[in-house]
Amino acid sequence: MSDFEDALSFGDSDISQPMSPVQALRKRRPIWDEQLAKEIPALQEVQEFLNEDDSSLLDDEDGYHGCPLPSTPVDPASFDREVVEALRSGGLGTLMHNAHEAEKEFMRKVWAASWSVCNFRHLPSWLQDNDYLHNGHRPPLPSFSACFKSIFRIHTETGNIWTHLLGCIAFSAGLLVYMTRSEEELPLPDKLALGTYFIGAIICLGFSFTFHTVYCHSEFVGKLFSKLDYCGIAIQITGSFVPWLYYSFYCKVRRMMVYLSFVIILGIASIVVSLWDKFSESRFRPWRAGIFAIFGLSGVVPAVHYVIEEGWVNAITYASLDWLILMGFLYLLGAALYAFRVPECFFPGRFDIWFQSHQIFHVLVIAAAFVHLHGITEMLTYRMSIGACAVQSAATVL
Ligand SMILES: [Zn+2]
Repeated sequence: MSDFEDALSFGDSDISQPMSPVQALRKRRPIWDEQLAKEIPALQEVQEFLNEDDSSLLDDEDGYHGCPLPSTPVDPASFDREVVEALRSGGLGTLMHNAHEAEKEFMRKVWAASWSVCNFRHLPSWLQDNDYLHNGHRPPLPSFSACFKSIFRIHTETGNIWTHLLGCIAFSAGLLVYMTRSEEELPLPDKLALGTYFIGAIICLGFSFTFHTVYCHSEFVGKLFSKLDYCGIAIQITGSFVPWLYYSFYCKVRRMMVYLSFVIILGIASIVVSLWDKFSESRFRPWRAGIFAIFGLSGVVPAVHYVIEEGWVNAITYASLDWLILMGFLYLLGAALYAFRVPECFFPGRFDIWFQSHQIFHVLVIAAAFVHLHGITEMLTYRMSIGACAVQSAATVL
């Protein structure tokens, strides 16, 4: 085979049957071919870049053309003409130079390309979650850096990402403030009780923000992080119970331990359910909302117990029951909006980017978390003001 034929033969050419230069060029695979991209790492970067966002390309439904990736029209006739012209005008050298220039131009266009948001219909099935959101979806972005860069673009997940990212930062700062207090200001047991709550909130909000950022990476990554997202909710609910039970039953240690044990068992059960593969499917949305709502509502049992024993006024004054009820209301409202996809179910396509049910749910979760923080810090203040338990007899600790 001559150098010329060799240069035009790409990978899978059958060298036992020489082909003409034109046939060889026709056989050449497109540079964005999936298999070729796997073989050549640099092309994976090209594919990554193809998936870059361009928020300015938010399409309305009518004018929408899907999630366009660059395509290179392969016109056999133009190849024929190019080869013939090149051979006539300058031979092999010119042909190779032209091919090289064309390839450089193609690469430049590819790097300059950017991904655009998608219509729901054009998403792969594993990214189709809420069909009431019509436009503004991110296409699959099989690169973590592209996923994290998309935080700064406008799409259906922008609000979901930022609500819990900012919440995560706020609670991290809160943890730092409380944990750096002196032993006199905040003794170690109180630091542990409050710290459990802060860490639960940080894990929940952190997992949620990460999930919403990377779930368009691939089906595997999406499922993995959705499980972590649900685990985070279970951890936050558990973490919310700990300081409330700790201060409510401060002087009744056995009772406190029984309730804490139940909460931890329910928390572990919720995490196990969250790890179930099918749990993240969109048809299980009401089940997800229901299971976490029931877990949260299980707090009614120790709350009622406290009211029966201490009376309503004491429950409000010393156990922050009013804040607890407000927190429960906010969580339940958020869960209901999430489960029934309000308001987008009434106006499909109107809340694609802002004020969709999931964003409202996120905001209500943050609000509920701060309400609960306020409630447990009031309980902490009360506990620190009265000091140790008055009488530690067997009757009072049970
Ligand atoms: Zn979420």
